[in-house]
Amino acid sequence: LEDQLIRAKKMEAVGTLAGGVAHDLNNILSGVVTYPELLLLDMQEDDPLYKPLQNIKMSGDRAASIVQDLLTLARRGVAVKEVVEFRSLVQGYLESAEFGTLKKAHPEVVLDVDLADFTGNVMGSRMHLQKAVMNIIINGMEAMPEGGTLSISSRAVYVDTVIKGYDTVQEGDYVCLTVSDSGVGMSEEVVTQIFEPFFTRKKMGRSGTGLGMAVVYSTVKDHGGYIDIDSEPDKGSVITLYFPLTRESSPVREQSTDLLSLTGNSE
Ligand code: ADP
Ligand code: MG
Repeated sequence: LEDQLIRAKKMEAVGTLAGGVAHDLNNILSGVVTYPELLLLDMQEDDPLYKPLQNIKMSGDRAASIVQDLLTLARRGVAVKEVVEFRSLVQGYLESAEFGTLKKAHPEVVLDVDLADFTGNVMGSRMHLQKAVMNIIINGMEAMPEGGTLSISSRAVYVDTVIKGYDTVQEGDYVCLTVSDSGVGMSEEVVTQIFEPFFTRKKMGRSGTGLGMAVVYSTVKDHGGYIDIDSEPDKGSVITLYFPLTRESSPVREQSTDLLSLTGNSE
């Protein structure tokens, strides 16, 4: 309970800070990345200014993403409520150019993807859900500097336990995403701090901002879901995100009777 209070206080502090400056920074940064973007459009790659402009753009993008994370932490609840098909959201990320770049940066990691064949909708913000999925996949990759296997799987489950570790969880149908790595793993002490904003064991300013799991936590909470972490030092980690299934179907997509019925389907 004390831990939760401290966490809530920290979140509040981050929120106040972020609320004050993040909006302005967001606007400034979109200007910063727009100009190099425009200039790069009709510039040859061998132009002496190409690389510097690309670096400005990449730094600007990175800064904007940190500001975005601060805004996510500052806001209570997600503003957008849309019906999101979970499996295709995960699939979409795995097929994105962004994930392609991540894979290229970690050639030592072997991927093992198994998205079970199910249809399940989550009510919430596609952008935030995608970011949460992305953050745990990036962490898994980064946990294996010496190489290893990253397994990504998704499925639908019926959860009938009410208490899950640090939080109260409603009984019901959930979709979940499990990302497991064979990397450095975490001690219990690390696991208890993992959701704290700015907690990182990575080099600050490189990949580590310490905001990734704080953002995951806040998104999961905002969507009525929960997180399961199973980790052992030097063995690896298994992180599972659960999001409650909604019965509502998308107004844009054709949804008929084949919406998976999960009633009583426990694991
Ligand atoms: P960052 O990745 O920027 O450090 P995160 O909030 O994403 O911040 O993660 C916080 C810390 O939790 C990481 O620095 C790392 O020490 C630990 N961590 C998160 N995921 C994993 C993982 N899959 N394996 C080992 N350690 C992890
Ligand atoms: Mg991270």
